[in-house]
Amino acid sequence: MKAITQQIISLINERMEIAKEIGEIKQELSLNIIDDKIEQEIKNYILKESDRKGLDPEFAGRIINLLINESVKIQKSEINRKIQSNNLNKVNNNAFFKGIEKKNPSSPSNNIFSDIKIKTHMDVFNKAKQLDSLGQKIIHMEVGEPDFSPPNQVKDELNLIYDKHKYHYTETAGINNLRKKLAIYLTNFNNNKINPEICPENIIATVGGRFAIFCTFSSVLKPGDEIIVIEPAWPAYKDIANYLGVKTKVISTSLDEKWEPDISIIENSININTKIICLNYPNNPTGKILDEEKLQRIIELAKKNNLLILSDEVYCNFAYKKFTSILKFPYEKSIMIGSFSKTYSMTGFRVGFAYSLNKNLINKINKIQSLSLTSVAEPMQYCALAALSYNPIEYNNIMKKRIDFVCSKLNSLPFEFIYPDGAMYVFVKINENLGIDDLTLIEKLLHKGVAIAPGSGFGETYKNYIRISTCIDEEKLGKGLDIINQIVTSL
Ligand code: PMP
Repeated sequence: MKAITQQIISLINERMEIAKEIGEIKQELSLNIIDDKIEQEIKNYILKESDRKGLDPEFAGRIINLLINESVKIQKSEINRKIQSNNLNKVNNNAFFKGIEKKNPSSPSNNIFSDIKIKTHMDVFNKAKQLDSLGQKIIHMEVGEPDFSPPNQVKDELNLIYDKHKYHYTETAGINNLRKKLAIYLTNFNNNKINPEICPENIIATVGGRFAIFCTFSSVLKPGDEIIVIEPAWPAYKDIANYLGVKTKVISTSLDEKWEPDISIIENSININTKIICLNYPNNPTGKILDEEKLQRIIELAKKNNLLILSDEVYCNFAYKKFTSILKFPYEKSIMIGSFSKTYSMTGFRVGFAYSLNKNLINKINKIQSLSLTSVAEPMQYCALAALSYNPIEYNNIMKKRIDFVCSKLNSLPFEFIYPDGAMYVFVKINENLGIDDLTLIEKLLHKGVAIAPGSGFGETYKNYIRISTCIDEEKLGKGLDIINQIVTSL
């Protein structure tokens, strides 16, 4: 046993050394790290071999996925190391950053730009926040946080909570009244009476939608399992999967195809290790809404392959065309994720929820939340309950107006985009003639005081896209777009 294990370890070591060398070659040739075709070939071969030898193919598949994930990690860290050392040189020689250093001799400015390597919208946000704190006036068009105040009902409730003594531990799944009201809200969601009615027992209030997703993945997935993510996508699905040792199979969609996922590609990506299909409509970053027929086809596919569908609907209030929720289809293996963050502009309250017909899944999520957090803070649950008495249509109208405004201005810029069906972003393709990628453009814009999210944060293949968030008022959006205009016309 010892000898065989030693042999396995030394072969793994050899595999990783080779992966590193391949990583270097990929970087030199500017190739993507992930090579779906090769991965599929290796996997097919191993699955056939394991079947022939009587080894459980699901187990063999999980081992391969772990090895592939590890190779990707090695290749990425090698590339990041090189990029970071290049950036450090650039930053050290950059007059703008040196200027800040001079103005704020006491600030740890050396760390500011070398510590944060921009890859996602959150990196831009953190960097922009630091510039804010150094007195730079930054226009925030990178972050998905509406600037509206939460409804007055929430303000009133906040003022009462102390005297009402609503500051104790609660049931892990959330206070009864909140779950009951959520059940009514979801049953009547979008004036679309759900049948059978939604029961409060199938709902859990979570610390934001993000934690509901984390708990779902943790409940269902084992290391080496696979999930399907349709890109461009909010990076958290992949990041959480990665954290859990789970492999993400990416389905890319394109602007040319109007961000429509190809069902046959999804179907061909399903294998013995696939456990979850993640959907996010209205989509962050494209604003795409899937039509009902396509949603139904994806559900049929999930049924046929016994897969869970996680439908992240946190942007459901921001729909500018008909939106069909997964709730319309009583599929036992589906889970809907919702949130108060965007719908009621309550990002900092950290209240989200999950609903599934599968009570067992809700119980598992409950267990993780109970072990890690006890419950959502009671005052925040009461605020969420109060928010449910408000009709957030006004927020939708404001956001739609801003989207109209941004799109009309973007029409005269060297960008390509599709008018979003929903959400609060415009995902924009940078005209190839400009000869600039997202990260370089973002850096230039940040120097001029505009923070924008890079497309590559939503998927490796979107290096020539940027995401413009419409969460600030039109005056600021207009200023930001003027600066973008100046930059791109000077290229
Ligand atoms: N899903 C998507 C697609 C998101 O963009 C976000 C936040 N940006 C969330 C879920 C999580 O929201 P929260 O945790 O604030 O509810």
